[in-house]
Amino acid sequence: MKLQEADAKSLLVAQGLPVPDWSVAHTADEARDAARRFLDAGAGKVVIKAQVLVGGRGKAGGVKLASSVDEAVDVAQSILGMDIKGMTVRKVLVGPAAEIVKEFYLAALVDRAERGILLMGSAEGGVEIEAVAEANPDAIIRRHADPALGLLDFQAREVAFAMGLEKHLKAAVAIAKGLVATMRAYDADLVEINPLAIVLERVPGGEPIERLVCLDAKVTLDDSALARHAGLEELRDPDEEAPEDREAREAGLTFIKLDGTIGCMVNGAGLAMTTMDLVKRAGGEPANFLDIGGGARSDKVAHAMQLILSDPKVDAILVNIFGGITRGDEVAHGLIEARAQQARDVPMVVRIVGTNAAEAAALLEEAHFQTAGTLDEAAEKAVAASRGAVARS
Ligand code: GDP
Ligand code: MN
Repeated sequence: MKLQEADAKSLLVAQGLPVPDWSVAHTADEARDAARRFLDAGAGKVVIKAQVLVGGRGKAGGVKLASSVDEAVDVAQSILGMDIKGMTVRKVLVGPAAEIVKEFYLAALVDRAERGILLMGSAEGGVEIEAVAEANPDAIIRRHADPALGLLDFQAREVAFAMGLEKHLKAAVAIAKGLVATMRAYDADLVEINPLAIVLERVPGGEPIERLVCLDAKVTLDDSALARHAGLEELRDPDEEAPEDREAREAGLTFIKLDGTIGCMVNGAGLAMTTMDLVKRAGGEPANFLDIGGGARSDKVAHAMQLILSDPKVDAILVNIFGGITRGDEVAHGLIEARAQQARDVPMVVRIVGTNAAEAAALLEEAHFQTAGTLDEAAEKAVAASRGAVARS
């Protein structure tokens, strides 16, 4: 689950990390109030940032500065409603604008291969890290933190020195450790600060002082761990998910869209992957991974079918069910129901084995479904049906 910048920043603040103050505004009026508050409190300018779940908002014109309340209103008005990479901006973050001296990159992410947390830092901040990784891979510093112990002080210091942050060592160490602590506290997959910035803070009557602060924040949480954290699910942004992803989640289906033409409906993740492999071996391309789960009842099957058919690229469907807790006849009923409601007629090959397979077979035969006994046969028939569809069109 991806968090909006403002929510991500709240988690960082809760872990004691330095983040400039902010407000979230849904309207130009709310932006006016927020801007007035920050300007009255002594900010020279305010920054207004689109809250959308995509990167590169700055380049897309979604991050702007304003020097007065009126200008802030104009800017907020221009950003609200803006389309950034297919996402409509529904709210903006308003905060005192930072005077940036230098931008850095610092992120913590799960490194599955290393079974740990990877801390990545770079003195080339503000730009996309992928670009840095390509053009200048040596500019990225990597350290692995133990998932149980977190980032150790000496590791944090090594990263800070390597990034050229020795003048801000104490802050840099605290932030590096804080990113890893944030990951562990919320079961995050990624906590990314880009830019981490040295900024100038003006104090009345004195010399400006340099501070290291988190200017941007990107956090993604492990969906499977959300149940462990009260209150985090509420941070889910309805715009975060593609409509089909939301539909699948709400129906309790595990659905991942792929690029092929053969829709797959399977129970169990392992069987779903095997089915995809066999479709590939038979010369086809799966259109999705879909696990309807154990004990799937007919309404769930019908739901899954709608989801598969909502992809216009699908021209054949392979149903592969191994009945254990899931009863074959339930699935067959679901398929018959689904086909009756189906807006689009797509050839379907069904293989149901296990619990109540005989009852399922009788139902399917009566309803004139194309069936298969083995998985190889099912895959071959589905691929042939998909080819036939291509040849006909
Ligand atoms: P992103 O483009 O979606 O990653 O949004 P960011 O929050 O990272 O902002 C993009 C860029 O805008 C940053 O790299 C900064 O250069 C600039 N920026 C963001 N906030 C401020 C600010 O408070 N003051 C100034 N002067 N520039 C800012
Ligand atoms: Mn950024």
